[in-house]
Amino acid sequence: MDAPLALYRRYRPDTFVDVIGQAHVTGPLSAALENNRVSHAYLFSGPRGCGKTTSARILARALNCETGPSPTPCGTCESCVELARGGPGSVDVIEIDAASHGGVDDARELRERAFFAPMKARYKVYIIDEAHMVTTQGFNALLKLVEEPPAHLRFIFATTEPDKVIGTIRSRTHHYPFRLVPPKVLGDYLLDLCALEGVTIEPTVVPLIVRAGAGSVRDSLSVLDQLIGGSGPEGVSYSLATALLGYTPDSLIDQTIDALAADDGGTLFAVIDKVIDTGQDPRRFAEDLLHRLRDLVVISTVPPGAIQGLLELSGDQVERLSGQAARFGRPELTRAADIVSQGLTDMRGATAPRLLLELMCARILLPGIDSSAEGLGARVARLERRLSGVGEADHAAPARSPSRPLAPSPSPSQPLAAPPAAVDLVDASPAAETQPARQAAQSPAALESNSSEAPPAPVEVAGLSLVDVRQLWPGVLDRVKKLRRYTWILLSQNAHVKDVADRVITIGLVNSGARDNFLSRGGDEILRQALIDELGVDWRVEAIIDIPDSNAPSRTAREHAGPTAPAPAVAPADERRVDVEAAKEAIRPTRNGASKPAATHQDDVSEVRDDDEIVDDAALSSHDLLARELGAQIIDDIRHDSA
Ligand SMILES: [Zn+2]
Repeated sequence: MDAPLALYRRYRPDTFVDVIGQAHVTGPLSAALENNRVSHAYLFSGPRGCGKTTSARILARALNCETGPSPTPCGTCESCVELARGGPGSVDVIEIDAASHGGVDDARELRERAFFAPMKARYKVYIIDEAHMVTTQGFNALLKLVEEPPAHLRFIFATTEPDKVIGTIRSRTHHYPFRLVPPKVLGDYLLDLCALEGVTIEPTVVPLIVRAGAGSVRDSLSVLDQLIGGSGPEGVSYSLATALLGYTPDSLIDQTIDALAADDGGTLFAVIDKVIDTGQDPRRFAEDLLHRLRDLVVISTVPPGAIQGLLELSGDQVERLSGQAARFGRPELTRAADIVSQGLTDMRGATAPRLLLELMCARILLPGIDSSAEGLGARVARLERRLSGVGEADHAAPARSPSRPLAPSPSPSQPLAAPPAAVDLVDASPAAETQPARQAAQSPAALESNSSEAPPAPVEVAGLSLVDVRQLWPGVLDRVKKLRRYTWILLSQNAHVKDVADRVITIGLVNSGARDNFLSRGGDEILRQALIDELGVDWRVEAIIDIPDSNAPSRTAREHAGPTAPAPAVAPADERRVDVEAAKEAIRPTRNGASKPAATHQDDVSEVRDDDEIVDDAALSSHDLLARELGAQIIDDIRHDSA
């Protein structure tokens, strides 16, 4: 038994109605046929594989149908049958591949033959494919013919490069530009084909094929053909598609994004290692990462209701990505996308793409060294989130952070008079920066828990590393969703897995409001149950406030005091408004030298991110910090004292 014909040949359309994604061309052509106003020469241009030659054949068939010319050929007359898909072809419809027959001699021969009347059909139709390959002399030889053809003659030039068709010919044709087929249209078409073929295909595979086909129907069908050929009885699966097409599996991209969001360099570089180990192409990985970042930018920019149609994602993917987007600020996302995009350009032709990939990721992690406007934007966004994290429990203003659409309404406590403006900045920032020094000094336990977190590389616990848990997290979230929707919303929008160690899973929530809501509503118990159900592990659940922000060593230190010393993770509102003097006071001992807390603090910083520019935090005053982080100029020192 012969193998079946390739898909794109079996499903080549016979009528304009069946041509997908080119309505702007097929519509007018059908109308011209309907009204019998067909021109004597056409130029079909457009990218390859999007239907130019096919449309030329359809046009020829429509012209020569006995009942025509008609946009809907009868399909039964001799000409129709001959020119149908799989038919023998007609002597009066001549296809010429100009790539091999574009010389002046070929053109002269064509010219001589063209004057003879058609054998059977109404018109003699010349379809000249790859018309840009016709030489200038060849075109000149055809010029007169195209200009004043005999009544029985029709020309259709098809080309990917209309600019290379000489102007004198082009001006005598009707030019129809074909376009790449939109992903949505192509995706639906592929699904229809699979249904016709009786092939099972995972819906997530379709966007991959569409991407691989890059808008070309023929290329997409070839890819689909290959996947169907390589699939087993269970049909075309996602894993088969990513492996065959060389795409980075979603899980690797997820891990990368998680690591970037958590500012977790260790995991990030472990993922890159895995990318190389599993034989993925670094460039492809960067491309896929860029694609994901783009999706995240769209999600963070467009209101949830309007997203459908903008992204080639299923509903639950959108949900998962919303969670990821919520953990970045928009400036951070666009900046990361810029860096990856630039990195991709640099990688072209590079001999060590892995190196460039790693440097690229390092740059994303380090907005601190980036003095460009984007870098500053990313830093300000981080600070803003940090501040909103501190203040949110007090301000009834969840709208302050657009990147967290579902931020739970904060618990009502004494509202602060000060707006989240300059005063707040001045107050909160040094407070946050100085707390670690204090905490560290007070609680040695903080040190311990902190240092246990120090190596960010995957930590093996009960066979499950941090990376594993992050990877399995969507499943855990699904369990949570079944148990209690409220907790699920909290976790999926505002939380990430911070750490896994010693049968304790640490969940980082973006602000104190989220954390309090999580704990007060028994979220930890729900999550524990979900972990048992999904992963089969009975772990204690710790919830900390963690805004992914390496510039805040304080946070890590302070929050990690949480698990050991239950209460103090969130300081009471008053304490948060530590005034500048108190903040300075707290820093002073660390500045003054070799006391133990100073060393501790230095450690904290280097553990969180040892290549950060603020390693020397301890030596900075709050003013310096503000100036450096925000570009602030402190003009009135006395005001704070009186405040
Ligand atoms: Zn017919």
